Amino acid sequence: MWWSYEDVQEQKKRIQREIAKRKKRGEKFEVLAAPPGQKKLCATFWGQAWCKNLESYQQYESRLPRGRSYLRQGNVHNLEIEAGQLSAVVAGSELYDTSIYIQPLPKKQWQQIVKAGAGQVGSMLDLLAGKLGDGLMRLLTDPQDGLFPKPKEIRFDCSCPDHADMCKHVSAVLYGVGVLLDTRPELLFTLRGVDQAELLSNASSAAITDLSANAGDLADGRR
Ligand SMILES: [Zn+2]
Repeated sequence: MWWSYEDVQEQKKRIQREIAKRKKRGEKFEVLAAPPGQKKLCATFWGQAWCKNLESYQQYESRLPRGRSYLRQGNVHNLEIEAGQLSAVVAGSELYDTSIYIQPLPKKQWQQIVKAGAGQVGSMLDLLAGKLGDGLMRLLTDPQDGLFPKPKEIRFDCSCPDHADMCKHVSAVLYGVGVLLDTRPELLFTLRGVDQAELLSNASSAAITDLSANAGDLADGRR
């Protein structure tokens, strides 16, 4: 690399100024905080399973380490997850808009999962905490039949000039999903366009509804 340490520092400052300017204009800039250095990137079952799956795809291998350090350095902002789509703004030499499109889970595949999970998922809390029986766990994380997207179901788009198949910004955002799943595991189901409540037996989903109704009442101070 031909640039010096100062150049990198200068670049960081320039980007920070650009972010400050955009914030002043009312734009949202929320950093996705990730553990720095050598610490484990994800702490929970779903976060770790997402990253493990990502790392199992050989075609992504060469781009993943740069993306991971980009994320750890706090370069990923405004990560949003919706059905079939991720978006974020990643700070590199400039601020880049990154979008990742993920096909919904094929209906048949989801039905298989629901069928296999019948009577096995104790509660929504257990599901989101990954407290599941070995068999169901194996199915949910199976590279072929599980919940995670396969490379052929993933398309990406980044405003950076890197024409490689996957740039480091896309890779940083993909890792960012793992970090976000640590606190909001339900977003994995949102992303794949399925309703996780279908994994619960009717009795337990009713229990959850009661629970949230109670929580709402408590929050309102009516009890
Ligand atoms: Zn890029």
